Amino acid sequence: MGLLDGKVAIITGASRGIGKAIAETFIAQGATVAFTYLSSDEKAKALEVELTQNGGTAKGFKSNASDFDAAQKLADDVLETFGKIDILVNNAGITQDNLLMRMTEQQWDDVMNTNLKSAFNLTKAVLRPMLKARKGSIINMSSVVGVSGNAGQANYSASKAGMIGFTKSIAQELGSRDIRCNAIAPGFIETEMTAALDPAVVQGWRDNIPMKRGGTPEDVANVTVFLASDLSAYVTGQTINVCGGMLT
Ligand code: NDP
Repeated sequence: MGLLDGKVAIITGASRGIGKAIAETFIAQGATVAFTYLSSDEKAKALEVELTQNGGTAKGFKSNASDFDAAQKLADDVLETFGKIDILVNNAGITQDNLLMRMTEQQWDDVMNTNLKSAFNLTKAVLRPMLKARKGSIINMSSVVGVSGNAGQANYSASKAGMIGFTKSIAQELGSRDIRCNAIAPGFIETEMTAALDPAVVQGWRDNIPMKRGGTPEDVANVTVFLASDLSAYVTGQTINVCGGMLT
């Protein structure tokens, strides 16, 4: 018996990193997984094989989360393929860091569109089937820097703070229909990307975290399972920090 048996989930940006761990954990908990990616065709194909090899049901969709019409088409395709949508995880995200003095309009727009507008696009797209079912769980991947701010990440922090405001508003609008909306704010999560950084710098980050380690993608995935499942049936409008105590 899995915590997500019989549920259909859309996870955006799952070709690698945290999204991939969420897809793997959801499959292990019995969900049917529709995951998206932007350009990593090979990684997506490999993940689809991995997720389905032990009898799981999963399909990868190449879909740009920042494109409104593409999000609608994705929801239509997932409904046609799997019949319903119970869970949406707005995970796709990018960084384009720069001090504000040097930040270009393009860097601002790209980050806002991929991180924040995408949540609007996808949430709008799944609304109809969730309203019809009078049930649903929407999970938005924010960040601790959306709560605290971060020098050099004005665009990213603003997009992640925006996700928290969006989450609270959707929770208030849709709570009466049993559609829940929560955010997760990961701290420093160690992925392939951080493995390429200077080990001394990374160790410095770890030393500043109360739990003295970076998080794993699985640490975030497990909290996502909780919010997606009926274990969190009375939790909505909340932001859960998954940060080893960094933000306390
Ligand atoms: P990665 O860079 O490892 O992966 C990003 C994923 O998003 C990829 O699958 C990528 O697809 C996909 N993606 C990017 N742009 C789009 C788009 N326009 N449409 C659809 N998919 C897209 O990210 P992480 O796993 O590190 O982060 C996942 C989320 O968690 C992000 O929202 C991030 O901001 C947030 N987060 C991460 C933290 C960390 O320490 N890693 C900390 C706090 C928050 P493709 O491979 O095809 O490009």
